[in-house]
Amino acid sequence: MTDRPILLLTNDDGVHAKGLRTLREALLPLGQVVVVAPTTEQSATSHSITIDRPLRHIEHSPDVHSIDGTPADCIYLALFEQRFLSRRPDLVVSGINHGSNLGTGVFYSGTVAGAREGALRGIPAFAFSHDGDAEAAWIGSYVFDLVQRCLLLNKPTDHPPLLNVNFPREQPLGVRVTRVGRHIYEERVIPRVDPGGREYFWIGGKVIDYGVIEGSDKQAVDAGYVSVTPLDLEPTASEHMGLAEQVAGLAAKKDV
Ligand code: MN
Repeated sequence: MTDRPILLLTNDDGVHAKGLRTLREALLPLGQVVVVAPTTEQSATSHSITIDRPLRHIEHSPDVHSIDGTPADCIYLALFEQRFLSRRPDLVVSGINHGSNLGTGVFYSGTVAGAREGALRGIPAFAFSHDGDAEAAWIGSYVFDLVQRCLLLNKPTDHPPLLNVNFPREQPLGVRVTRVGRHIYEERVIPRVDPGGREYFWIGGKVIDYGVIEGSDKQAVDAGYVSVTPLDLEPTASEHMGLAEQVAGLAAKKDV
């Protein structure tokens, strides 16, 4: 790499979040760091993009911008509107989320989606999350080491890595490479009535269990390790190809 690396940062807790500040400060020694983050908190917006209203931009300082949209909106705009970056970035980095993104939480997470939007555009990407407020000094030093190694190792490819990193609450014992685990949520619906007499609902409960899955992200974090999980962008389920053929009426009769 002859140029200084360009690192594009976003998050889902908003441009003023402590975790984003920790991330930016940790990565400044590695290259040009450009922040394009949501103006307000966008946790659990997953990979949604905003196509039914205009998106507003605020420049907070040179290389620190916010957009009143989702993390995926921010990465999309940063990559395809020329004012944000002088060239295509070398890495997209999202976080550091205030709270873990483990197990099936990766489907709901705006933090992971910000990174995924970069990976979908062919750019290597990290999502970072901490089971806490992401302020401790050791977090920045792990972020620096992981990102620096990725910059040194990574070769241009049409299948770039998407790495989901979770930090335990306290200073870790080390780093483990893991698989996505499984969450069990408290499935909760609370019906209420508004002052106008119309009924409304609150949905969503806390995570109550993760199941015990050997080698999972949650198991590593519970044991006091940093979890690094490579996520795949290939959504086709090979194990259900046979079923799909049967449903489609294309399977041999004996299999039905
Ligand atoms: Mn968040």
